[in-house]
Amino acid sequence: MITNLPTRESLNNVALRIYFRAWSDLLDVWTDFALMFEQTFDVGTAVKDWPTEWEDYLVAAQTDLQSISSLLQQSVELALKARVCAVSPYLLLLDSAMNLSASPKSIDFSELRTLDAVDLPGAVNTLTDQPVSDEFITAYTQLRSRRNKITHLGEAGVTMTPDELMRLAVSLYVAVWPGRQWLADRLDFADPRAAWLHDGKYTSTHMVVLHEWPAVVSLLKKGEFKALFGQEKSRRRYLCHDCVYEGDTRYAGLEKPGCGTAYLDESGTVLTCVMCGQTSKVERRKCTSCPGDVIADNGDDWVGHCHTCGEELNA
Ligand SMILES: [Zn+2]
Ligand SMILES: [Zn+2]
Repeated sequence: MITNLPTRESLNNVALRIYFRAWSDLLDVWTDFALMFEQTFDVGTAVKDWPTEWEDYLVAAQTDLQSISSLLQQSVELALKARVCAVSPYLLLLDSAMNLSASPKSIDFSELRTLDAVDLPGAVNTLTDQPVSDEFITAYTQLRSRRNKITHLGEAGVTMTPDELMRLAVSLYVAVWPGRQWLADRLDFADPRAAWLHDGKYTSTHMVVLHEWPAVVSLLKKGEFKALFGQEKSRRRYLCHDCVYEGDTRYAGLEKPGCGTAYLDESGTVLTCVMCGQTSKVERRKCTSCPGDVIADNGDDWVGHCHTCGEELNA
């Protein structure tokens, strides 16, 4: 018999882990540059103010960008396998040409040949009720052929830009994982090695995600932001006190106004955070430290704290 069958969840979890590895490496391409030239995470200003250096830097970044592209391909491949696996893990063995033997023995699933990457979109669209679009298949095919060139020739044969990879990364996430919460996934599927080293006092995964959040917001286009978070990019964002508390470690130095991850509902009295998913009641009155007027009123430790600047109101 075949042992250690994969599940949809196990494949998806690995796919998401690899996706956010790629994402984190991609963000580093911008933030390392911004930290060097502007000593901040303000990637937009750094790229605008140092155009010649940015061009030179991108030449040096090609190897990293190729690796990021390959990671994205690997992630999407596993996510497509997860969709097939949801119907039955045995469908992944359709082309395995397995040797059948009369003597009983167990075979580990990982030793068997699963569907080829090239056949996965077809397998998903034939075998599952969650088909992928033609547009997705075109992007996937390009990504796959580039990965093959990198694997076999050591280079992609094209010059890549971080901008192009970000457009691709967002569109792939939306196509492959519709309905999932991107920022919650970014937190849950952060680098486990780094997470192991975070003590929650000096550094934390929330800190890492909130550090990069302002850069992510500025780099995403309006339509991408809407697709990932269901909100207009231009809408005001408020601090989620719980998420900021987790991120505001001793070494964090968070720029608080940029860390907003929560949105007011239509009534203007309830906030929902796109990172932790929590909703909390607010009261509308003027803050004593900033022009904000959205104040925590959820019956917890944060009552009386401003959702704009984070400060507690003076009595
Ligand atoms: Zn939150
Ligand atoms: Zn305030």
